[in-house]
Amino acid sequence: MSENFPFSNFQELQQWHQGIKDANRNNIFCHCRNCSYEWMDSTFDATCSQCHSQDVETISSWQFPDD
Ligand SMILES: [Zn+2]
Repeated sequence: MSENFPFSNFQELQQWHQGIKDANRNNIFCHCRNCSYEWMDSTFDATCSQCHSQDVETISSWQFPDD
């Protein structure tokens, strides 16, 4: 393990992996600028399933305020 390894210990690495898994849930709000279709997806590179446009606005759900 080199000194450039970005995690100081294994637990930190696990937490980083958990963060990746959390980010992979369908919690990204997508809005197609082409046809206005809206859906939840798991990727910021979403393609609209209705018109196949890649002009999609993506908003992470954790940016929404809690209420
Ligand atoms: Zn669309």
